[in-house]
Amino acid sequence: MSATSMRTHMSGELRSEHIGQAVSVCGWVASRREHGTQLAFVDLRDHTGVVQCVVDNGVDVRSEFVIRVTGVVRARLEGTVNKNLPTGEIELGECVVEILRTAEPPPFPIDARADKVEENTRLQHRYLDIRRERMQRNLRVRAKVNSAIRRAMEAQDFVEVETPMLVPSTPEGAREFLVPSRKEPGSFYALPQSPQLFKQLLMVAGIDRYYQIARCLRDEDLRADRQYEFMQLDAEMSFVSQDDVLEAISEAVMAAAEAATGERPPAIERITWHDAMNRFGVDKPDLRFGMELTELTDAFASTEFKAFAGAASIKGINASGKAEEMGRNKLDGLTDRAKKIGAKGLVWLKVGADGSLDSPVAKFLSADEQAELLRRLAGVPGDLILIVADDWEMTCEVLGTLRNDLGRPPVWQGPYRYVWVTEFPLFIGRNKETGKPKPGHHPFCRPHPDDLDKFETDPMAVRALAYDLVLNGWELGSGSIRIHESDLQRRVFNALGISDEEADKKFGFFLRPFEYGAPPHGGFAFGIDRLVAILAGEENIREVIAFPKTQSGSDPMTNAPTPPSPSQLAELGIRTLPAKV
Ligand code: ASP
Repeated sequence: MSATSMRTHMSGELRSEHIGQAVSVCGWVASRREHGTQLAFVDLRDHTGVVQCVVDNGVDVRSEFVIRVTGVVRARLEGTVNKNLPTGEIELGECVVEILRTAEPPPFPIDARADKVEENTRLQHRYLDIRRERMQRNLRVRAKVNSAIRRAMEAQDFVEVETPMLVPSTPEGAREFLVPSRKEPGSFYALPQSPQLFKQLLMVAGIDRYYQIARCLRDEDLRADRQYEFMQLDAEMSFVSQDDVLEAISEAVMAAAEAATGERPPAIERITWHDAMNRFGVDKPDLRFGMELTELTDAFASTEFKAFAGAASIKGINASGKAEEMGRNKLDGLTDRAKKIGAKGLVWLKVGADGSLDSPVAKFLSADEQAELLRRLAGVPGDLILIVADDWEMTCEVLGTLRNDLGRPPVWQGPYRYVWVTEFPLFIGRNKETGKPKPGHHPFCRPHPDDLDKFETDPMAVRALAYDLVLNGWELGSGSIRIHESDLQRRVFNALGISDEEADKKFGFFLRPFEYGAPPHGGFAFGIDRLVAILAGEENIREVIAFPKTQSGSDPMTNAPTPPSPSQLAELGIRTLPAKV
């Protein structure tokens, strides 16, 4: 398949079975070693690997020259076989080398040594960085994942539909990128945070099962698992329950994982949001390690210890075996971290060799309380126990964060632990200015049918038919069963502080079609960059994106973003303010 009019084989696929064959290979000079004036060993690289070419009539090639070599495959001499190289048993002899293009010396070596090069330099010369084995592998894993997802979705009768990139602003929570309109100066399109509204309208339109490998754009601070633009498998289905959606998406995720790793993951577990918070302290639990949060509130119900007395929620974790390595400085560090998150404090206790508790607060705890504490947390000598007493949210958040700090392996490290987190709250937190609840996910999620009566009286207790998919502590994606009735949608908008008039003005294009017969529907989207990064063994999604932005949002290769010319601005009717210094 890879033969062309210029080559017969790929360099990395030549083996002993090809001995005696005349072949042509094309690629880049990976290295060159001289033996006397005439004899040279040239390693030729293409994306499949390198092959050694023995050139005995002298040739002036340097690193990264583009060459074509025609030669005969022969066995390497005894003692020169390279067991570390897939092509290490053979070499090309009688080589004729044709220089297709010379090359300047590259700014960094095109091999694993470039991993140590500053990322900006790698990104500035991304086309050279991608020539390397690691990037070639990552981009090819990504392509396999995309293709497996497409196949899995199509096998389940999903139809690929493309949705626009120039869209109105939508209330999905993230800051949007705006694009000025030339025809209507002063008006702007937004770039889509996701195809959310369009995919729901496709359900009104009778598409039944939609999917798209969609580009989404969000103007949020970048970090290891976040880029301004990212790819999602976006899907929506009509006439479904939550189980139908989870099954369909699980199928795509498993197919993707199998394509990347060769192994199909076991059926994905489920946990409710409330249980995830209670046991792991976070809504994206990493199930690869223990150290679960343990309930202690009732154990201290009649305590004399002031910091615990009357606390709404007391929980602890056992950082097994960590007593010795956590000296005073490190413990102060943990306490500072807990306080930064918002806790009043952090109680630590070390279990001593005789099973007694070593801690500045031990003397305030009764013997019974100490015994119960050790029993519940299964404390044995050498353990470090951390306790937080606060309101439930704070206790969970602080201990969830410390649990991850103390126990979490790198995200890509096996085993892969996928988990569906279900029953997210409809609202999480409140808007600081308006005091109105904020959507837990986005405003189109369907309230849990059992909680509808709490909607106006106790909105924060209303659960949604909303779910996330989590892998090794990274949120891969979210979805929900949707609201398909405009009156219920208005109720949710009102709870969020969006009046009927405002809703009509902003989302009339979305709400009105629902009056024409919207089917019950639900969907999901998961981040392909995140999934591929984990499956490819990378800690940062930039490593699996061909041309990513740096942490500060720029592209050192193209220099984007750049200031527009005055005439471009004039055409758009835009005047810019001087940059803030
Ligand atoms: N649009 C949502 C997101 O991008 C996913 C969904 O609810 O289907 O997170």
